[in-house]
Amino acid sequence: MAIMTTTSSLAFQPVLERIAEEIERTPGRGRPADYIPALAACDPRRFGMAVAELDGTVYGVGDWRQPFSTQSITKVFTLALDLAREGDSLWEHVGREPSGNPFNSLVQLEYESGIPRNPFINAGALVVTDRLHTRTGDAAGELLAFLRSESGNPALGFDQEVAASESAHGARNAALAHFMASYGNIDNPVPVLLDQYFRQCSVAASCADLARATTFLARHGIRSDGSRLLSRSQAKQVNAIMLTCGTYDAAGDFAYRVGLPGKSGVGGGVIAVVPGRCTLCVWSPGLDERGNSVAGVAALDRFTTLTGLSVF
Ligand code: GLU
Repeated sequence: MAIMTTTSSLAFQPVLERIAEEIERTPGRGRPADYIPALAACDPRRFGMAVAELDGTVYGVGDWRQPFSTQSITKVFTLALDLAREGDSLWEHVGREPSGNPFNSLVQLEYESGIPRNPFINAGALVVTDRLHTRTGDAAGELLAFLRSESGNPALGFDQEVAASESAHGARNAALAHFMASYGNIDNPVPVLLDQYFRQCSVAASCADLARATTFLARHGIRSDGSRLLSRSQAKQVNAIMLTCGTYDAAGDFAYRVGLPGKSGVGGGVIAVVPGRCTLCVWSPGLDERGNSVAGVAALDRFTTLTGLSVF
């Protein structure tokens, strides 16, 4: 039975504290991503969690103000920024189905003629970044400006060490980009695109920053200044793709346990949306074998169980 029978905001803080205590007692946190040295050094016992209300009020616990590597979480924001500009023609270049393959897989691309399954696997995110770059001339800069403005934190920035590390270990992303270019599904020169993509992955932000920056999705497309980024229908679409494709090839299990649209990154962060109510961000760098934060998913599972706030 849910302990929060009303949706009173003040009830968030005790729920977060209870979850942090439970997580603290839980052994086994998974392992930090080790494919780039800049991520491998993170302590898997770190844990932070934040909830943001629609008006931007944020509640948090643990390391909720500590910046971490956002990685694939930024794919949600580039998708929203591109969809806002080009609308449905985006879907001629990237699909909307779960891939059932690892996030950096090449195999499906050949069967499906260079059209990635969805915008949250690496191939799909490369297409989205490419299209946003064509439209803006600076996809990573657009993303950063958006995150700064929606989080209310003008100090957000790229982590140069992580970006350089991504680039030095980026052979597979380069392969994906070149392969899609061979099908005519990439506009910009591949080195330009990769630089944009790696910088996008390197953004450092805290749970508080990301929970706030995600609230436009809980407000059905309305930004923090009251202007509209996405139509109500587009906001629904982005939330739906997060639910079905946002947590690598464990999206079914995430929906089963958490019951919210979510997006994870290999830095150990996960964002989640309760449409019309609030957003969440949790960070703990230890990952399971599919690339999702062990403590992060457990904490979101507890949050929706304790509060009853879920889309189901
Ligand atoms: N920068 C990572 C890559 O492209 C993103 C990984 C992730 O968070 O899924 O390999």
